[in-house]
Amino acid sequence: RSEITTPDALTEEEGSELSLRPQRLVEFIGQDKVKESLQIAIDAALSRREPLDHTLFYGPPGLGKTTLALLMARELGVNIKITAAPVLEKPADLVRELTTLREGDILFIDEIHRLRPIIEEFLYPAMEDWRIDVRLSDGPHAQMISMPVEKFTLIGATTRYGLLTPPMRARFGIVQRLHYYPVDALAFIVERTAEILGVGCDKYGAMEIARRSRGTPRVANRLMRRVRDYAQVRADGVITRDVADAALVMLDVDEFGLDEMDTRVLRSLIEQFGGGPVGLNTLAVALGEDAGTLEEVYEPFLIQNGFLMRTPRGRVATALAYRRFGYAPPVDGAT
Ligand code: ADP
Repeated sequence: RSEITTPDALTEEEGSELSLRPQRLVEFIGQDKVKESLQIAIDAALSRREPLDHTLFYGPPGLGKTTLALLMARELGVNIKITAAPVLEKPADLVRELTTLREGDILFIDEIHRLRPIIEEFLYPAMEDWRIDVRLSDGPHAQMISMPVEKFTLIGATTRYGLLTPPMRARFGIVQRLHYYPVDALAFIVERTAEILGVGCDKYGAMEIARRSRGTPRVANRLMRRVRDYAQVRADGVITRDVADAALVMLDVDEFGLDEMDTRVLRSLIEQFGGGPVGLNTLAVALGEDAGTLEEVYEPFLIQNGFLMRTPRGRVATALAYRRFGYAPPVDGAT
């Protein structure tokens, strides 16, 4: 149950996610402002025959950061190397990546807020002056040599913008935030996925899946695959509203797409703190979660969907949140 609505990729999904990735920027649904800025930056880079500015994508998991990086490489006609901050342990790991890039190529670093300081220091001159400073031996008097690297583009992705160091942020020419998707955009994504998987799905079936996808394409695609199984086994293979609804009830997917963490946040707020107001840090400690993650990763969805409010005195559960968990909202409570 807890896994079905998580926005993080499950290991067994890696292959199937690959085939569902849009191949061109125009096929990427939603995030119109982001797409437009990127298209302009891409066209400008192409016409000047220069590498694209370093680009940072931030926002919750599963909204398309990696997908956009892949699309940009394709639109620019360059190669892309994909890595993640936790994999880059030593400067040598980064040198290996940087020295295999050709001019204009993209280096994609996921979870870039997790780069070790030593790696970050090393990356700065590469991003700015296309050089890396390599130490030839250990010790205080070690000889350093400066090595050129090709003019590449770094694309960073993070769920935690607040954890990026100021010098790191300052080195990105393009910074784009991704937002949760509205239901109609998710329904488009679900229909597109149905087409790729070769399964019939009508508009209402797609809407039903979209409504429970927590604003997240990765969740929408996962639910689509699970509903397809159900449709093939229990119905005639076509996903209609009734089929989708029956499948999602059976899979115990929340009618609002709330995942396990969302549920914990709201339950704690209501059951431990009388619905609030309660300070962010107090709530975070009660949940055993980091306050920044709570604020940047979990709260935006709950706020956007009317379950939680930020007030000057702290976090407050709304009437919708009370009802969701079978409680009567407080009489003089918020909304
Ligand atoms: P992130 O890097 O932000 O965690 P991904 O780029 O890995 O997210 O996207 C997760 C999945 O959702 C992928 O399978 C991708 O194809 C799909 N997806 C994300 N955004 C879109 C979109 N706008 N249109 C179609 N599919 C999308």
